[in-house]
Parts: sequence; C-alpha cells; structure tokens
Amino acid sequence: MLTPAPSATKPDPQDLLAWYDRHRRELPWRARAGETADPYRVWLSEIMLQQTTVAAVKPFYLNFLERFPTVEALAGAPAEAVMQAWAGLGYYSRARNLHACAKAVVDRHGGEFPSTEPELLKLPGIGAYTAAAVAAIAFNERAAAVDGNVERVMSRVFMVEEPLPKSKPLIRSLTAELVPEDRPGDFAQAVMDLGATICTPKRPACALCPWMRPCQARATGLQEMFPKKQKKETGPLRRGAAFVVLRADDTILLRTRPPAGLLGGMAEPPTSDWLPDYEPSRAVLDAPIEARWQRLPGTVRHVFTHFPLELTVLFAKVAKGTPAPHDMRWTPRLHLHEEALPGAMKKVLVHALGDLPGAKKASDKQPAKGAAK
Ligand code: SF4
Repeated sequence: MLTPAPSATKPDPQDLLAWYDRHRRELPWRARAGETADPYRVWLSEIMLQQTTVAAVKPFYLNFLERFPTVEALAGAPAEAVMQAWAGLGYYSRARNLHACAKAVVDRHGGEFPSTEPELLKLPGIGAYTAAAVAAIAFNERAAAVDGNVERVMSRVFMVEEPLPKSKPLIRSLTAELVPEDRPGDFAQAVMDLGATICTPKRPACALCPWMRPCQARATGLQEMFPKKQKKETGPLRRGAAFVVLRADDTILLRTRPPAGLLGGMAEPPTSDWLPDYEPSRAVLDAPIEARWQRLPGTVRHVFTHFPLELTVLFAKVAKGTPAPHDMRWTPRLHLHEEALPGAMKKVLVHALGDLPGAKKASDKQPAKGAAK
C-alpha cells in the first residue's frame, strides 16, 4: 500500500494556464492565442490523433485539409478518396466514421458542428473524449477532455491507485473539477501539452512542472508507477499468406476488402484467411490464380490492436492480358501509392517488389497505442 503525499494541496488550473501561455505547442490545427478555433479542424485533428502521434498526424492532416478544406467538401467526397487520403494512418474505421460524421454534420446541422457534448456525442465516430475536446477547444464549453496524456497527469497528481481502465470515471471527475470557468479550451490543451512534453511516461521533468508542488506521486518519488494499468490481453499470433502478382504490363493484382470489419474498404493484394493454425506450406492452395508461385524468403509481421499477424508472401509473374479474377483488378505499379493501402499491405508489397514508387516512407508507421500526442 502506497503512502499518499502528506500535504495534498489541490492543483491550481491558473498555474497550469500561466505555464501554457509560455510553453504551448504550435500545432497546425491549433488556433493561435486569442484566435477562435475552427470546429472542423479541431474535430479532424482529434480523430486523427486517436492512437497516433502528433508527428505522424501532421503530414496527413495538412494533406487532408488541402483535399477537403471544409466539412462540406469532405461530406461530398467519394468514400474511396477519403480512404485513400487516410491510407497509412491506421485504425481505418476512423476514416469511415469521419466521412459518415461529415455527412451527418451537413445533413442534420447545415454544415455547422453542434457546440455541446450531448449533441456532438450523437454524431458517428464521436465518443466521450472527442465530444469533450471539440466542445471545450472549439466552443469554450466547460467540458473535461480526458485522453491518455490527461490520464497520466491526473493519475500522478492525485496518485490514483485504481488501475486503468477501471479508474477512468474517477479520473474524469477529478479532471472535471479542475476545469476553470474561463478558458476551458486552453485548460484542455494545457493538460494535453503537459502530458506530452513534461509529464512523459518515462522520466517526467517534474522540476519544470507547474503542478510540482501539489503532485502527490512526485512527493513520493513514484511518478513512473502511475497510471497503474490492468494487464492487457493480446490475441494469439495469426498467420496467413499474401499473393503478389506482377503482370507483364507492370500492373499488380489488387482487391478491395469488404466495407465492414478490419481494414474495411482498404485495398490489398489478395490474401488467405488469417488464422492461428494457418499452415504456410499449403498457401498455394489459396492462390487467387494459377501461376508459377514462388514463396519468398522471410515473412511480413504486423501488429494490429488485438493480434499480431505474420504473412508468408508468394510471388508470381503472369503474361500480359491475364484477366483479373472476380472482384479484383490490375493496378499499374506506378499508381500503387494512390491506392488506399494499409500499412500491413504496403509492407507485403515492399517485401515482394522493393520500394513503392511515390510512397511516402514515413507515412505508414503505426505508432504504439497510447503514444504521447
Ligand atoms: S510533478 Fe511530475 S509527475 Fe507530477 S504532474 Fe508534474 S511532471 Fe507529472
């Protein structure tokens, strides 16, 4: 049993805001001091930042905004264009929900985002955190936006012994109590910035922290033990085979995955089922077409949220004019970067073909869950 800090004074939001005024991060989606935040940009960035780092999001955000500068432009875009702009960011259900949400904002609200948490929560893909973040940052509502950074800060300041995710309601109410009447949007961003830059998972810079005095975990020297977490269950390793077919006219066989489910609506070279007991030596039986299949050395590994995947890659060359099987298509190798290929499938293609022409190298990185924003 840990001893709580002897003199636990309440952290003062104004101390944090004073620190924020001096040290706030400049981010492409963030309004400058004194400017009003654009709800579309706030919402877009918050969806992109879920499970993804700021560094990974920046180029996607800027590209997305250029292609879809308004919620109306996004709502009116074809689904394929949205998925293509998202390709490489991972967690693809977010892109489908993003599109559905943009349509709902246009259809139900005339293109204006609602300003309150309850109304925002009714929109597709907007959960408790995003509703609170948009309400606070874009509309200055007194809402408590609690993401991974905020959980870390609050669990340390108040030394919350209960492990996550059970402690979520407690952390939320502790945060809500601190949200000031004035500047709730700045407060939300200030706690996020504190968690991202000072109160980091490892070696927090407590000496620079505006809440050093009231922080209970710091007083005991046990900062890095918080937040406590319940052990996560990860699924067993699944195996499968991926089939890369190169036609003599320099085109590659692709298909689109069904709209629902993992990587729904994304493009891929055909693959087998992914099963814990998949037998790679029998992979050729799952091949999409008859050809001289060559099993490539090594495997492609990718970690999804709930399970790791290991793919054996089979490669074949076929003659010009070979027809694509039902529901598949030939894509010129030079246009592969325009396809909505998820990170796992880019790895497969690189394994078989080498670099993808026109692909942005940094763009298909899948950061660890809970990475600092
Ligand atoms: S004092 Fe240290 S542990 Fe506590 S909130 Fe500040 S940075 Fe985090």
